[in-house]
Amino acid sequence: MSGNSGNYRRIALVGSVAAVKPVGRFAPTPSGRMHLGNVFAALIAWASVRSRDGEMVLRMEDLDTQRTSAEFGEILRQDLNWLGLSYDRETPPQSLRSDVYDRYFDQLRERGLLYGCYCTRSQLHSVNAPHLSDGTYVYPGTCRNLKEPPAGRKPAWRVKVPDKLWQVEDLVQGHYELNLATDCGDMVVRRADGVYVYQLAVTVDDGEAGVTEVVRGMDLLSSAPRQMYLQELFGFEHPEYGHVPMLLAPDGRRLSKRDRDLDLGELRKHVSPEALIGTLAYSAGVIDRNEALSARELAMEFAWENLRGDSIFLDASAFLT
Ligand SMILES: [Zn+2]
Repeated sequence: MSGNSGNYRRIALVGSVAAVKPVGRFAPTPSGRMHLGNVFAALIAWASVRSRDGEMVLRMEDLDTQRTSAEFGEILRQDLNWLGLSYDRETPPQSLRSDVYDRYFDQLRERGLLYGCYCTRSQLHSVNAPHLSDGTYVYPGTCRNLKEPPAGRKPAWRVKVPDKLWQVEDLVQGHYELNLATDCGDMVVRRADGVYVYQLAVTVDDGEAGVTEVVRGMDLLSSAPRQMYLQELFGFEHPEYGHVPMLLAPDGRRLSKRDRDLDLGELRKHVSPEALIGTLAYSAGVIDRNEALSARELAMEFAWENLRGDSIFLDASAFLT
């Protein structure tokens, strides 16, 4: 990765200026067991922060109350404990924070940045709507200046986005940029059923918890500019971002939650935490030999510039023999 050495210099510089301890976070969705991709992202998040004696915060991302449960939350805590990934505090789960999100939502409304969107799903996905190469659509601002809202229907709420380029210097992926006006359009922050969307909840939660470093899967890279915009609106500092690569099976298929044999419920029967951590760290380039080691030992030699930025191939069947 060409961007890595530059990022490393930047971290060193920041470290010498501000002696503030880093604050990282685990933000799992308690809808099932951790799979290998979750374990990998959590491991890197933890090792980075602990390597600099920083603090880790846990919170449950359970906005989708239909799919999530307190039981899975408890199992996730046990899985983190089994892995040796300690945390210093747990902040309240998102499902209990809608009154907090209300306050931020009201700020946006008072500043005239919100409007109701009455578009149906089929209107939004119609062939006439502009689509990006990744299949997401760009909201064209249909309801921005609606004279007469349709009667009897609750709208989704969108925040107006500026025509501005948001630049991310990602710890793993290097430079990434997005113009929300042309690449995304005005963003939904609250659904018609009243539930706040991920982007708003994450921004508020990370901001209030003082998170300085967000490490998560590469599939969330395009969320970073969206959250940077909301951080600016809410008066939060931008955290550092590190979007870790996806784990792929040897045939190139992405390992996912569907691979039930690769979640911790199954893996814990076959492999020690040290063997699992060692294999993940070696496959990702973080250590230079394939040997078992604890999370604590990994943190002692963790350095961002060793982490591969491209996809990581992992023959996970080796764990199961
Ligand atoms: Zn609309």
